[in-house]
Amino acid sequence: MDASKNNSEEVLIDKFNRVVDYVRISVTDRCDFRCVYCMDEEMHFVPRAQLLTLEEISRIAQAFTELGVKKIRITGGEPLIRRNVLKLFEDIGQLSGLDELVLTTNGSQLTKLAQPLKDAGVKRINISLDSLDAEKFKRITRVGDLNNVLAGIDTALATGFEKIKLNAVILKNRNHDEVIELVSYAGERGMDISFIEEMPLGVIANHDRAEAYYSSDEIKSDLEQAFELIPTTETTNGPSKYYKVKNTGTRVGFISPHSHNFCDDCNRVRLTCEGRLLLCLGQEHSVDLRKTLRAYPEDNEKLKQAIRDSMAIKPKGHEFDLTGKPLIFRHMNVTGG
Ligand code: SAM
Ligand code: SF4
Repeated sequence: MDASKNNSEEVLIDKFNRVVDYVRISVTDRCDFRCVYCMDEEMHFVPRAQLLTLEEISRIAQAFTELGVKKIRITGGEPLIRRNVLKLFEDIGQLSGLDELVLTTNGSQLTKLAQPLKDAGVKRINISLDSLDAEKFKRITRVGDLNNVLAGIDTALATGFEKIKLNAVILKNRNHDEVIELVSYAGERGMDISFIEEMPLGVIANHDRAEAYYSSDEIKSDLEQAFELIPTTETTNGPSKYYKVKNTGTRVGFISPHSHNFCDDCNRVRLTCEGRLLLCLGQEHSVDLRKTLRAYPEDNEKLKQAIRDSMAIKPKGHEFDLTGKPLIFRHMNVTGG
């Protein structure tokens, strides 16, 4: 990306000349679901005392916007189960310089929170939906209630967000046979949908990730049995590669960490709920922002300098390998997917 396109006075640039203008913030590692690709059955969560407070998260978000960040995504764990999280959306929604405040959610709380989220300034929502079959949905999420999530999607659609997109992680022999139904469901409601290849984050006992691998190319060729997919260069500033579905006019995206590497265009960093700034989803390079924040409670310049300095250690890319031992031991709920 061309740095001159960013209007902010300051811009974060890493040593590979990539502009970082997008931050994903995990506000909790806890969740009301236990998706089999994301968490192990028994999980240990971060003790509450180690979590950043909502005020600390806002301070970090403000520092990032002062450094040229234009887009913040609130994620988790399940962000909408954190107590008083709406206050955080309201505070971040008011930061000047921020173009987009967006959210990734499993949809379980949307029947009650969609309207307050819109009022707080959330423009776009990504909702995870891996299956339209209640039993399969339960098997994948271990505890999720499909009807509640579908009701949440309906509420969000009725609330009038600028955009609602679905995300589906596709696993062979779990839900790979549902991709056509998922695209139809999304298209009929005017939503885009992205299919995600499972990433080897954290050790899970549920399945062998290599055996469950179902590539974006396989999904695409399954979809072509039912839809005409027209390549498009449109982007949402993320890793999805998009196709327009001729029949519906909506789009299908593919997030393909294994089959089509997207690291060259990486424009993002991630903040964990403990205040660790992760410079790459698939590497351990990180900086402890909580330490700086708490050592200098009144001095935002120190925080900004720690963020500027972190650019020097942003790695070139991930090295995901499904066949060997996992290299990354943190699960996706900790990483902030
Ligand atoms: N709980 C929210 C949700 O499910 O949307 C937000 C957090 S969740 C970690 C964010 C996204 O990461 C979801 O779309 C989820 O499907 C995806 N995800 C979780 N674990 C993953 C993995 N191992 N590989 C690929 N995507 C994963
Ligand atoms: Fe929870 Fe989202 Fe992970 Fe599923 S993918 S367990 S909903 S954090």
